[in-house]
Amino acid sequence: MRCFTCGKPIAHLWEEFKKLKQEKGAKQALDELKIERYCCRGVFLGHVDLIEIVGRYKHA
Ligand SMILES: [Zn+2]
Repeated sequence: MRCFTCGKPIAHLWEEFKKLKQEKGAKQALDELKIERYCCRGVFLGHVDLIEIVGRYKHA
């Protein structure tokens, strides 16, 4: 999975993000993963539902 806007690959960052988010909060997690662009941060801050919808769309 990639950022919808800039195409940065982010799928491999999800597990780490979820872990860091629980420990330190979403903003700090994004900083530590070096997700600096607003478009990418938006993907992580959005709902998981959105990702699932996109996944379904790809398979359609
Ligand atoms: Zn992006």
